[in-house]
Amino acid sequence: MITFVRKLFRHMNEEATKTTSERTLNFLEEIIRDDLAQGKYDSIVTRFPPEPNGYLHIGHAKSICLNFGLAQRFGGKTNLRFDDTNPTKEETEYVDSIKEDIHWLGFRWAGEFYASDYFEQLYLWAHELIAKGLAYVDDQTQEEIRMGRGTVTSPGTESPYRNRSIEENTDLFTRMKNGEFPDGSRVLRAKIDMAHPNMLMRDPLMYRIIHTDHHRTGNTWCIYPMYDYAHGQCDSIEKITHSICTLEFDVHRPLYDWFIDKLGIFPSHQYEFARLNITHTVMSKRKLLELVKAGLVKGWDDPRMPTICGLRRRGFTPSSIRLFAEKVGVAKRDNVIDISLMEWCIREESNKNAPRYMAVLDPVKLVITNYPPEQVEYMKAPLNPEDPDAGNRDVPFTREIFIERNDFMEDPPKKFFRLRPGGEVRLKYGYIIRCENIIKDENGKITELQCTYDPESRPGSGTWRSVKGTIHWLSAAHAVKSEIRLFERLFTEPYMGNIPENKDYKDYLNPESLQIVQGLTDRDAAAVAGKAIPGKDDTRTRIQFERLGYFVPDYDTTKEKPVFNRICTLKDSFAKTMKA
Ligand code: ATP
Ligand code: MG
Repeated sequence: MITFVRKLFRHMNEEATKTTSERTLNFLEEIIRDDLAQGKYDSIVTRFPPEPNGYLHIGHAKSICLNFGLAQRFGGKTNLRFDDTNPTKEETEYVDSIKEDIHWLGFRWAGEFYASDYFEQLYLWAHELIAKGLAYVDDQTQEEIRMGRGTVTSPGTESPYRNRSIEENTDLFTRMKNGEFPDGSRVLRAKIDMAHPNMLMRDPLMYRIIHTDHHRTGNTWCIYPMYDYAHGQCDSIEKITHSICTLEFDVHRPLYDWFIDKLGIFPSHQYEFARLNITHTVMSKRKLLELVKAGLVKGWDDPRMPTICGLRRRGFTPSSIRLFAEKVGVAKRDNVIDISLMEWCIREESNKNAPRYMAVLDPVKLVITNYPPEQVEYMKAPLNPEDPDAGNRDVPFTREIFIERNDFMEDPPKKFFRLRPGGEVRLKYGYIIRCENIIKDENGKITELQCTYDPESRPGSGTWRSVKGTIHWLSAAHAVKSEIRLFERLFTEPYMGNIPENKDYKDYLNPESLQIVQGLTDRDAAAVAGKAIPGKDDTRTRIQFERLGYFVPDYDTTKEKPVFNRICTLKDSFAKTMKA
């Protein structure tokens, strides 16, 4: 696994410079290219079919980018279809959030549909299959049906109701629909083959009775189609040419084809690719919902969540997520992608775009004793060294500044190049200072560092002198109190799919995944944050706090207090992970 990830990372670095049109086609693109070349279709239609029972996560983003991306690439279109066939778990809140997330990712669907739009058609087709002797009403209990299905090594047994007459089936199914029977008393099953090697083909369920209101159809229906009976037919109604789903559905494909074939309707085809798994996180909606409900995270959009709204709040951009989806590629075999690949994508982008500021997370006061008390000097700093057009900004320098507490060590080891007693260090964009004196409180905690500065060492003054360390700092008079939120992996275990059976995934929650720091930031950065409308706009400026990482204002920012989320650190933690 590690080797795979390492290889992928290398490959990704190489691929990073290639544009979409230069890289080799993935297997789905090859299929589509060939289908179009052979004139099988004039143009392609794909769909993204979420079940509205939770918020979308990064795995869905992969599927969205794939479906919409294929249509864009081959001049086709993509529908958004809500797979709302299960009335007990679905809510309008989820429908809205799903639409918002897809929109935010930058995709526009051709048509917005609901599987429930097709309930009537699906019902009529079920009657058609009954009339063809291909479906029957079964009165067995759920348990009896399960028992009758047999095992992988032994054939199933036929239901005693399997050979009901077409008339009786038609009548019973109509009465099921009319609400004459209680939940669980009867089901409609396809009549295929109880000895079929593929268990899913052993007379699969088509309809079950559920007397529950549906988020769209209300109480119109009390029978609801199963996924396998609904999905292919919905695809067919919309003339989906390439119905792309995740690998675990490959065993469903014969059934998908069987219904379409027996009904003689538009031949949509299903193709499978490996679902996206990411280290240090879980991706099932059920588990994510559980984390939210149990208060283990602060909502669906908690920046530690792998949800699209969480990543968005954290500061990921739509383009960084699209890049990630592209880099991950389309695999035919399951794998686990290192979460640092996602960070790599936003880091690359931010490195190009993010203006640079300074912040101090754990401030200690530093007084420059030979600097005039009232004086303010402005140091020149490039807003973004990666972008010559970005220009410079003025960084105010005064007698009292703050530096990072851990940039000073009273008794440092050899390789410590930051500030030490009697030692020199350069203040980024500013002077070289020397530590002359340390002031401590009664507990021995350092409360102030007294330093002198070398007036000759101002950058650009002609006599450049270099010292080993450079540290960031903020003028005390100009710093703005800010809240800074630092995030770590949500789970301590990289491969959450492989945890022992006697363990619960929640046992692996990282207690240190959120660290809230009351620190100081540059007033210019605070002004950037102040401009951010608290809410969900993604016009928020991503900034770099030098040496600390890339940050974005959080929705909790108020006029009084900026709140910043760390999107990622400046350096990749990947190399470290690999060595460990
Ligand atoms: P979950 O198990 O996380 O709840 P799901 O597959 O039940 O996911 P759906 O709403 O049914 O969620 O999925 C909508 C589409 O997104 C489907 O086509 C599904 O295959 C795809 N999808 C879901 N999870 C992933 C993933 N991890 N990687 C790639 N595609 C995914
Ligand atoms: Mg599903």
